[in-house]
Amino acid sequence: MFNIEKMDIVKIMFEELRNQKHVHIRDWDFVKSTIENMVKDGPDKLQVVADFDRTLTKYMNNGTICATCHKVLEEGDHLPEFFRTKTKELRDTYFPLEMNPDLPVSEKIPLMIEWWTKAHELLVHCGLTKQSIRKMVETSSVMLRDGTVWLFDHLHANDIPTLIFSAGIGDVLEEVIRFKATHHSNMKVVSNYMAFDECDRMVGFQGEMIHVYNKNENAVHESNYFTSLENRSNILLLGDGIGDLHMADGATNVKNKLTIGFLNVKIEESLELYMSKYDIVICSDETMDVQKASYYHGLKPDLKAIQGVPHYSPYGTCGELRMYHKHHVGGQAKLRD
Ligand SMILES: [Mg+2]
Repeated sequence: MFNIEKMDIVKIMFEELRNQKHVHIRDWDFVKSTIENMVKDGPDKLQVVADFDRTLTKYMNNGTICATCHKVLEEGDHLPEFFRTKTKELRDTYFPLEMNPDLPVSEKIPLMIEWWTKAHELLVHCGLTKQSIRKMVETSSVMLRDGTVWLFDHLHANDIPTLIFSAGIGDVLEEVIRFKATHHSNMKVVSNYMAFDECDRMVGFQGEMIHVYNKNENAVHESNYFTSLENRSNILLLGDGIGDLHMADGATNVKNKLTIGFLNVKIEESLELYMSKYDIVICSDETMDVQKASYYHGLKPDLKAIQGVPHYSPYGTCGELRMYHKHHVGGQAKLRD
């Protein structure tokens, strides 16, 4: 039985990260020490908080933009034509404003509320049913990032609480997870959920609206979700918007927090801003490799676990790890019986 020193794996990961042109880190020392602390504390101290659209799901696949939760409803001809036309008009108006790095968040908030309100009001007039959502998801272009199923399964196997916090539509999001992966018992979803009448027709939305810039104000922060996880003092936060950085604001007793942000659009204009806010910024990457690596170091990296990593090549198998170490780190592989 081989064991690999945990800190050796951190070293390997950093070597790998430094060679990735699409990975940008403002403060390498901070990221390294945070990961080392998380590794020392182990999986029992870890919790994960993740956005959904364009974080757990892909932005693009083979040059084509993939659907978000809202966009799933526009694809195909499940809903009336006026819905698609109007929704596209709304997106063309508001999405550039959401992504405009020169517009302050305080000015974006009322615009996002307008957008979400109009989009949700439109849906009420479309005759949407619970049953039709499943069909829409099955035929949609929504895709989880490569490696997300692996991530979900390993978070579950290691009993790590995972909060998925989305300004999308919870009913769609849950169908996507059920259809493309597994909705495990360690996952909690906070999102906009539809309200249905006794005939399962959609009649509106439940509770307070979640848009991309009010994730700090949600009831989950006031609930006992984070207080019940006070012993989970290390947080891995994954997002793709600046507003996502507030998803774990309700957490207390935080010792180490590592934030990883995907920058999918307006990369040149937004990179500086993202680097000033996120610890790790990943540009135009449709995988979970960096997140998997960061998360993975919090676990017990024994041979069995290493062999169970199907995607991330530096940790692929024990043999691959030895080869990697030999060629990239130098000297003998630091594996021991
Ligand atoms: Mg998102």
